Amino acid sequence: QEERERLSRVLAAEARAPRRDWQGAFEWDARVAQLLGAVFGLPSFRPLQREVINATLQGRDVLCLMPSGGGKSLCYQLPALLGGTGLTLVVSPLLSLIQDQVLGLEELGVHAAALTSLTDKDAASAISKQVEDALAGLRLLYCTPEKVVNSKRFFAKLEKVYKQGRLERIAIDEAHCCSQWGNDFRPDYKKLGILKQQFPDTPILALTATATQTVCDDVQSILRIDGCEFFRSSINRPNLFYEMKPKPASGADLVKDIAGFVSGNYPDGESGIVYVLTRKDAETLAEELRGLGISCAAYHADLDAAVRESVHRRWSQGRLQVICATIAFGMGINNPHVRFVVHHTISKSIDNYYQESGRAGRDGLPAHCRLYWRFGDYMRQASVVVMDSNWEPHLRGMLQYAAASGCRRAALCRHFGEAPPPCHQTCDCCKRVAGGAAGGAAAAAAGGRQQQQHQQQQQLKDVTEAAKGVVQTLQAWPGAEKRATLIQLVDKWRKESAAAKALSRDENEAVVQQLAADGYLKLDFGFSAYATNAYLKASAQASLLLQGKRQVFIPAQAAGGSAGSEAHKPEEGAVERFKAQQQAQRGQQQQQAAGTASGAGPAP
Ligand code: ADP
Ligand code: MG
Ligand code: ZN
Repeated sequence: QEERERLSRVLAAEARAPRRDWQGAFEWDARVAQLLGAVFGLPSFRPLQREVINATLQGRDVLCLMPSGGGKSLCYQLPALLGGTGLTLVVSPLLSLIQDQVLGLEELGVHAAALTSLTDKDAASAISKQVEDALAGLRLLYCTPEKVVNSKRFFAKLEKVYKQGRLERIAIDEAHCCSQWGNDFRPDYKKLGILKQQFPDTPILALTATATQTVCDDVQSILRIDGCEFFRSSINRPNLFYEMKPKPASGADLVKDIAGFVSGNYPDGESGIVYVLTRKDAETLAEELRGLGISCAAYHADLDAAVRESVHRRWSQGRLQVICATIAFGMGINNPHVRFVVHHTISKSIDNYYQESGRAGRDGLPAHCRLYWRFGDYMRQASVVVMDSNWEPHLRGMLQYAAASGCRRAALCRHFGEAPPPCHQTCDCCKRVAGGAAGGAAAAAAGGRQQQQHQQQQQLKDVTEAAKGVVQTLQAWPGAEKRATLIQLVDKWRKESAAAKALSRDENEAVVQQLAADGYLKLDFGFSAYATNAYLKASAQASLLLQGKRQVFIPAQAAGGSAGSEAHKPEEGAVERFKAQQQAQRGQQQQQAAGTASGAGPAP
């Protein structure tokens, strides 16, 4: 009996203990440290790199989740140099990513090669020979998933290497492409489970920056690495400033606002991206910004490859400041010095927004992410994504993010299942709250504290009565379908309802937006040969509202009309504040890097 109890205690302790302390000492430590400095020229590891490297060297399957720029490539590039004559296979979704990496490795003196659709016949047969030849010194072989899944000859080659005992590791980069729940689904990635099936003794290292739990679970089961070690660093990007800005109703005002932001904050031509919804938007905006003296070009899928390539190159080299791009400008953008990403329109999901905005500041220095938001864009985006699978919950998530007031950073982290980190006033909300409190205290010492508390609580305005009018207007809409565009709806509602007219037009839109976010309105689509139009329609839930069983609130701040007009004004002092903040942060970073303790904080 005693022995049994002792054993069960031991087992319980064992189960609680980590499988292995990946930060601990390993026999390869010295060699790994040497390669890091001598080959890659890096002084130290970034968070989790060492742990991931230890786990994969130990032969575990690993799923590694790190934000963009976190340094995922090193996690398979370095281990590839440790073995004797073994080969690391790297599966990567994009030819440009593959080319960049192979060139980069060759520059470091590491022998790497790629077999893709671009490899010509002679080169391919030379590489094939090296793959089989243990003495050729080839360490990393890059390929696309298509190659693995569709080329029998290529797969037979891998089997041969495996039988030789030389298929040391398989890295699957951008592993979220496996999952339909991710934002870059590739059908060929879904078939990559064949690798574990055929090469059970080769450890797999899957890497991605996309962080939802659903995608992670999916990736593990598709790649057949269910028991894998799971490493996840925080998705929080402390060097990014997140800002949401009400989008001016007039296109001309918006262009002026963007041009002012760019030329005011980045007079030295620092690089940035403006994401737009459609190819036409990209062309139009690029032209208008050029008219205002901004160096920029459009980038979208309709341009031919040579033009896209040239735009990308000029921008990477700093000869072009801004790219006005659709999401075609995506994976494979490796410029680490992007100082700002502006969203002219909301993204199709929070995952997409995180990834697109995350292209800013990959060098770790402060960078700015600005999102222009207006409810009409929810409908525009809907009409673009309506054919995607699962677009509705994704886009609604984006709507809720955009419509919320509160810390942007916290909202992003919560979306990915992380506890909200401290924001340190690096989003517009937290900054406004802090700024308001300080200003209030200075203006009136007595009212200061009250104002602060006021501002921290979200002020809401009850618009239930007005909101009922929106539903009634729709339910009485002429025609069988009882649906309207946003503009039609607001026009008619204002004509018919005194409660609507008592509000500003911005407030009217805020009410409609809240009704959609709360599910009382739903989207409906009309398809013509040339376009897809999105309409609003009352949902079944709307009856609860009419029966007086539900209430609707909008943020008082958005309702004041002040937020709406703020966007029309040039940003007084914003530029100086931003520069000062950037300088202070840079100073802090340098001090931290130099290891000196800073006694005096940055000037307020
Ligand atoms: P990811 O694939 O996670 O987006 P990359 O592997 O492309 O990131 O690396 C991003 C940048 O970080 C590269 O310029 C790389 O050289 C750099 N980097 C990687 N590891 C380190 C490190 N330990 N120290 C400094 N820089 C690093
Ligand atoms: Mg990468
Ligand atoms: Zn914040």
